[in-house]
Amino acid sequence: MIVVLTGGTGGAKFVDGLREVVAPEELTLIVNTGDDLLWWGLYVSPDLDSITYVLAGLLSKERGWGVKGDTFFCLQAMGHLGQPIWFQVGDRDLAVHLLRSRLLAEGKTLSETTAQIAARLGVNARILPMSDSRVETRIGTPIGELSFEEYFVQRWYQDPVQSVRFAGAAEAEPAPGVVDAIMLTDSVLLAPSNPITSIGPILAVPAIRQALRDTKALVAAVSPIVGGAPVAGPAGVLMESQGLPVSIAGVAQAYRDFLDLLVVDLRDESAAEHLRTLGVRVQCTNTIMRTAEDKAQLARAVVSFISKESAARAGGVKQQ
Ligand code: GDP
Repeated sequence: MIVVLTGGTGGAKFVDGLREVVAPEELTLIVNTGDDLLWWGLYVSPDLDSITYVLAGLLSKERGWGVKGDTFFCLQAMGHLGQPIWFQVGDRDLAVHLLRSRLLAEGKTLSETTAQIAARLGVNARILPMSDSRVETRIGTPIGELSFEEYFVQRWYQDPVQSVRFAGAAEAEPAPGVVDAIMLTDSVLLAPSNPITSIGPILAVPAIRQALRDTKALVAAVSPIVGGAPVAGPAGVLMESQGLPVSIAGVAQAYRDFLDLLVVDLRDESAAEHLRTLGVRVQCTNTIMRTAEDKAQLARAVVSFISKESAARAGGVKQQ
């Protein structure tokens, strides 16, 4: 079993490769819900949706979100009705939000709702929200505090970031199965997702971070930072706002209390060499995922690194 902690963009690309290399029944995905929002009165969970769609073979690869080939008639109609349309929702995507909102209103948990939708879409991997209680990523900016989607989608991440907090995380319990999955697996992978606003909210649930420290599983991360910059999106400014260098060293620092292995891009070879002198295990491969083959190659490389590392320390006890 491989357990993956993930957000929705870099994470979904990585999961797309993994599903080519690992049987879906062997995958458990623990997904960020800090970006969740109420949109037109519906409960939308962007990262859960992207991970569900990618595993169902439905994700739009062009947009990186939503359902491939979707139409946007409802969005247009909502615009005509004077409703906000900055967060785009396709018609097929909308069906998922309608069903999830209905199930939640009937008293189902987010985990139950997620499992039901995934099963209906033919997904055989196990998708777990990080928590069934609400954890909200809040970005402090000069114009006030914004939700993640307001900061990222509505305002194109142009505002200077003064603070990041995860409202509700300190009191949140992991969703059922999350801690067991981390404790009982052989390996945990952190996808090349934003360390602050995609992996950060998951780690902000205290029992999840503790499980990562306690597990005997090998914990490996793929760096979303390549050559001193994020491949896409605001990971750089968000890392800086938390006092982290925008580098593979910054990624290692964000995960320092539980990370066993960092997988970085070939162009970070010399930075990797430096990190190794500080005692961090680092492996290099091509981590830029443009094509289906890039994704599968990265997944194969990561699976091979973790099986070699696991074999090397077989029988040993994890160093704290
Ligand atoms: P979000 O939920 O939409 O924020 O998505 P994620 O956090 O899963 O993905 C965003 C991160 O993915 C960014 O920090 C990017 O640097 C990283 N990313 C996107 N594409 C790639 C890629 O091809 N390779 C690597 N290594 N990172 C990537």
